[in-house]
Amino acid sequence: MSRFIGLDLSELPVKWFNVLPHLLEPLPPVQDVIDDKGSRLEIMRKIRAQELLRQDRATEDWIDIPEEVRRKYIEIGRPTPLMRAYNLEKYLDTPARIYIKREDLLPTASFKLNTSIAQAYYAKQDGARGVVSETGAGQWGLGLAYACNIFNMECIVFWVKISYQQKMFRVMFAEMLGGTIYPSPSKMTKAGQQILAKDPDCYGSIGTGIAEAISFVMENSDKYKYCSGSNLPHVLLHQTVIGLETRRQLEKAGEVPDMLIACVGGGSNLGGFMNPFVPDKINKRGDALRLIGAESDAAPRLTKGKYQYDHADPVGLTPKVLSYSLGADYMPPPVHVGGLRQHNGSPIVGSLRHSGLLEAYSYSQGDAFKAGKTFIECERVIPAPETNHAIRATIDFALEAKRKREKKVIVMCFSGNGLLDLKGYKEVLKM
Ligand SMILES: *Cc1c(COP(=O)(O)O)cnc(C)c1O
Repeated sequence: MSRFIGLDLSELPVKWFNVLPHLLEPLPPVQDVIDDKGSRLEIMRKIRAQELLRQDRATEDWIDIPEEVRRKYIEIGRPTPLMRAYNLEKYLDTPARIYIKREDLLPTASFKLNTSIAQAYYAKQDGARGVVSETGAGQWGLGLAYACNIFNMECIVFWVKISYQQKMFRVMFAEMLGGTIYPSPSKMTKAGQQILAKDPDCYGSIGTGIAEAISFVMENSDKYKYCSGSNLPHVLLHQTVIGLETRRQLEKAGEVPDMLIACVGGGSNLGGFMNPFVPDKINKRGDALRLIGAESDAAPRLTKGKYQYDHADPVGLTPKVLSYSLGADYMPPPVHVGGLRQHNGSPIVGSLRHSGLLEAYSYSQGDAFKAGKTFIECERVIPAPETNHAIRATIDFALEAKRKREKKVIVMCFSGNGLLDLKGYKEVLKM
């Protein structure tokens, strides 16, 4: 059999899958907070695209992918291939069959484009001339700049200052696509000026980025919409194109998955990959299908956090949602896995975990990068630091299958490429 299982363009999904009506524990309403900064719900209503607010509470099972968005999906190379990792299987000498969904092959080298394209599209529909967001490691900021480029829109990104300095090539790519990038905290916004007045040397955090992006859109809400790269139901909804394609590809290969594995930070690649399988998990197969999240032990929300109401951002500018959280003042150590460092996770992923559908394991940076190195040696593709956590889990479960002599079918979401993160490999693996 070929290493790659592809799909025809006609097999690209025409609808996204909405998991909300299928959750065993439905999401409770978000909690508003009202103080001198105003009502958080009203702020969101003002700064977000209307269709995205609707999608966050949608009750229908399927939501049409707008034809224009679907055409752009094709332009960026969707459907992405599902790859059988024969070399890794051979190296591990495991009877397990390992399949890898290759989201790293998209032009910005991560899955973020699946939602940035949809979000830019809906912002444009609302008459916005541009979108504004924050980014940490930068894959989201880059994905948004790409989407704005194809829709001829402005893109403004508040890029956490420390990572702006460390990831200058990703910043360059975003700027070449026409994005306007500010290292945050910046002097561009009142929020940034206040932070800098207190601490002129502040290196920034995802919190300072969110505060600046929201503050910027509040002052210009007739022209711009605010976007988020993870966490929210509409983001996971757009990402279900990953899982829907994977489902068809497995059917084509005649395989029934035993385990689905993804790394988890805000939860969007995990949700996008696994949500279309949730009805199978609940209805037909029960324990026969395991859903497995791999998180960083630098921010072990799902393994050590509490299921509680919390702001999605550390500065408290968003409404409170129920999910697993380490508390808004949790400061993760400065690891290289920028994309897995949030204190708080997706409410949908939280519900899956709390209702017992999702298992979670946490891995150290060193163990994750070692698994990444094994993957490079076998399959000759460089995983993003975040992806390495999913690879660690995949290798561990493939070795368990070997000990138990079980022919498990393990399917993993390969969230991104790590060519721009080689400095991280060098430092962690001391090469
Ligand atoms: C953003 C990102 C992640 C983490 O985000 P989730 O919302 O948890 O999926 C993981 N891997 C890569 C390559 C990313 O860009």
